[in-house]
Amino acid sequence: MVEGVTAKREGEFTCTACFMIVHPRQFGRRDRLTCPVGDDDCPAIAVVRASES
Ligand SMILES: [Zn+2]
Repeated sequence: MVEGVTAKREGEFTCTACFMIVHPRQFGRRDRLTCPVGDDDCPAIAVVRASES
């Protein structure tokens, strides 16, 4: 098991743009995902979309 810098709960990941630890649930509806930080071009949105197929 690899240990990262921060402990993450299942499903959480670190946004590569804003470096926030986010959970897919924070992005709201699947058909209208929004970054918890409010960045329209947040790459985390694509990550959530890809993981919730
Ligand atoms: Zn972000």
